[in-house]
Amino acid sequence: MDLYEYQGRALFERHGVPVLDGGVATTPEEARALAERLGGKVVVKAQVKVGGRGKAGGVKLADGAQEAFDRASDILGMDIKGHTVHKVMLAETADIAEEYYFSFLLDRANRTFLCIASTAGGMEIEQVAEETPDKVLKLPIDAIKGVDEALAAEIAERAQFPAELKDQLVPMFVKLWAAFVAEDATLVEVNPLALTRDGKVLALDAKVTLDENASFRHPDHAEYVDVNAVDPLEQAAKEKDLNYVKLDGNVGIIGNGAGLVMSTLDVVAYAGENHGGAKPANFLDIGGGASAEVMANGLEIVLGDNDVKSVFVNVFGGITACDEVAKGIVQALEMLAARGDDVTKPLVVRLDGNNADEGRRILDEANHPLVQRVDTMDGAADRAAELAAQGA
Ligand code: GDP
Ligand code: MN
Repeated sequence: MDLYEYQGRALFERHGVPVLDGGVATTPEEARALAERLGGKVVVKAQVKVGGRGKAGGVKLADGAQEAFDRASDILGMDIKGHTVHKVMLAETADIAEEYYFSFLLDRANRTFLCIASTAGGMEIEQVAEETPDKVLKLPIDAIKGVDEALAAEIAERAQFPAELKDQLVPMFVKLWAAFVAEDATLVEVNPLALTRDGKVLALDAKVTLDENASFRHPDHAEYVDVNAVDPLEQAAKEKDLNYVKLDGNVGIIGNGAGLVMSTLDVVAYAGENHGGAKPANFLDIGGGASAEVMANGLEIVLGDNDVKSVFVNVFGGITACDEVAKGIVQALEMLAARGDDVTKPLVVRLDGNNADEGRRILDEANHPLVQRVDTMDGAADRAAELAAQGA
């Protein structure tokens, strides 16, 4: 589970890692009030769970409360790499002299923990590691021994941090490790770890990932669960490259072509008025060349929705002819059975267009107990709605 920067900042603060005072705002008015509390000069930062906010224009300095209001207005609602900004963090500004990089993480490939430290911070560490590998220290951390002051001092030295900063860096690294362990994190990353012009070392960014497998011993981590997070079915569909949107009805919908699926939703909602208010449970467009596997993945997602009582597969054969789709449906049902999914919900299939006759013949021949063939879109929608009402 990834945290937002403002949550990471607060977590650092709780563990004694030096950060600047700050808070979070969801409106420009809140940002203005917060800037007043922070004393005027602030940095306004987009809160999205993706890196490179600075480059994307999501990190702006503001001189005074009114400017904080304006910058928050600019940043709220911005799209950064597909993430919409709903919150901004405001913090006191630092006068930065140097930007370093520091992290502890779980190194899955090498089955260990790892410390990565570099004096070339601020930018993406992957790029630094590629272009100037000698500027990046990567040191495995023994899980049992952990990081004590001696090891922290060794890290600071081997990463070529200025010697005069040791007094600040050593306790900071020890605290970051303590936070990493205490919170069951798989990543704590500070980039930039900044040196200010007046010689202070501060964590100016906080990227924290927590191990959800350890949630049972952190009841307080429940607050980090993102209420705006994507629906789990949508997440599963995304992982399978399916164009799926969860809706709140009970008739699962699968179709080929976004336009056809959109009109299928309308037809099913309309038919549902005669069947206890049955409604479409989702949008799912399996696209033009729907293979048996894509159909199986689609069926798996739709059938995995507990609200679904019946499924309407609405296909208009075009480039991919109906016989191919029919074979796909038959194979998909076999695939699901082989995967151990128990398919118990009725499927209403409407095939029309290119090679519809052959497609229908294939379905009839397969004679699957759960599959009902209805040849008109309205008729099939009505049947699917009826079955959903019966199953509810
Ligand atoms: P990221 O781009 O998503 O990693 O966002 P960061 O929080 O790392 O911010 C990007 C950059 O903004 C940093 O590398 C800094 O150069 C700059 N920045 C962040 N906070 C401050 C600040 O308080 N003062 C100044 N002058 N620059 C800041
Ligand atoms: Mn950063």
